[in-house]
Amino acid sequence: MGLPGAGKGTQAEQIKKEYNLPHISTGDMFRAAIKAKTPLGIKAKSYIDKGQLVPDTVTIGLVEERLNQEDAKGGFLLDGFPRTVEQAKALDEILAKTNRKIEKVLNIDVKPEILLPRLTGRRICKGCGNTYHLIFNKPKTEGKCNNCQSELYQRSDDNEKTVANRLEVNIKQTKPLLDFYYKKNIVADVDGDRDIKEVFSDIKKILDTLR
Ligand SMILES: [Zn+2]
Repeated sequence: MGLPGAGKGTQAEQIKKEYNLPHISTGDMFRAAIKAKTPLGIKAKSYIDKGQLVPDTVTIGLVEERLNQEDAKGGFLLDGFPRTVEQAKALDEILAKTNRKIEKVLNIDVKPEILLPRLTGRRICKGCGNTYHLIFNKPKTEGKCNNCQSELYQRSDDNEKTVANRLEVNIKQTKPLLDFYYKKNIVADVDGDRDIKEVFSDIKKILDTLR
């Protein structure tokens, strides 16, 4: 778990490599089921096509199918699921059927005020569409594209107010879920405001105790 921009994806990649675990993200799972035209995939597609939210029964069904596949029997890494306490409870029920449980919840903790510049730093070239980032990939001349010298602009999705609001909503929504796992005593808080390698080294210490 962690806010957008906290580095979940990057750390998930490292965990997957180090422990040879299947990385199960809901987005990938949906895409795979839709492509394979499984009954649940067809159902999910019908909602997505209408621009509606996929109901929990469908999502949970897909997660159950995925977790019972051969490669997930020795362990798995979930990303983007569960999002609510209801989903977390359903997940516990699915796993209990095969005598499994969630062993650890990694919470990559980065303060919203640190995330804000990361999430609002993207700039796009008006001429060629090339993207830059004010922290991670600065243009050579401020406000100008390296390729075509055109002016750079910020997408409205990336402005401070929109991003701050998105973070606030995210914090509010995930709080009950984090509390649910804190009560089970399985949350490991990891300070995410450090170098990628340092963060992973902490994660490794935590996960090595589960081997
Ligand atoms: Zn350009």
